[in-house]
Amino acid sequence: MGQQEAQQVSTQLPMLQDAEVNNYVNQLGQRIAKLTSRGDLDWHFAVVNTDVVNAFALPGGYVYVNRGVLEHTSNMSELAGVMGHEIEHVVLRHSVKQMEQQQGANVGLSIACALTNVCNSQVTQTVVNVGATAVFARFSREDEVQADEGGFQNDVRAGINPTGMLTFFQKLLAEEQAAGGTGNTASWFADHPGTTDRIADIQRMLSQMSKSDLAKLQTDDQGFESMKRRLAQLPAAPKAATK
Ligand SMILES: [Zn+2]
Repeated sequence: MGQQEAQQVSTQLPMLQDAEVNNYVNQLGQRIAKLTSRGDLDWHFAVVNTDVVNAFALPGGYVYVNRGVLEHTSNMSELAGVMGHEIEHVVLRHSVKQMEQQQGANVGLSIACALTNVCNSQVTQTVVNVGATAVFARFSREDEVQADEGGFQNDVRAGINPTGMLTFFQKLLAEEQAAGGTGNTASWFADHPGTTDRIADIQRMLSQMSKSDLAKLQTDDQGFESMKRRLAQLPAAPKAATK
């Protein structure tokens, strides 16, 4: 399960075709994923070329990070925070559960809707059952908290400072509040419920770690800086159709 959907996704979503950016995201993802209890999986990491801030995981180890996430992160540990979380959804088989509820639906298109604004267009609404789609990408609050807690441990195990999870969420929350639910961060909040509670939970986990242990963990690397420079040179992401 997952492989077929991944094929659908790559034909229905605008994938970012840039070796340097993809290599960095893949190398960071492998570093985190290989040390989890599902290190045996054949993990795949890909970047979707959209400004919408979101990420998604399919069963079997397929993780998608939108370009909007890369653009909103300020250091490696912030990106690792998002990836550690998505990896944990795979480890905990949350998306298998979700797909079983979604039998017969066009999974590729559902994910396209979840990750981009494409289903907001009236044209697409006539083709897609947006109601069913809405059910698809949303994990429960409980799933989200579990993925945060596991993701936090995934990052620490890989030697990465989990403070990035906190600073990234805080930044998204501030931006979302400023945009009033209309910006590129809106779909993140729709798909990842309970952000304020999750921030508190991450703060609790951080407070349980000693300052000296935290200081030993990595926050940034050169690859991240090169990836960001490369990203800034690429043509802008295509605008998803909106109303
Ligand atoms: Zn999640």
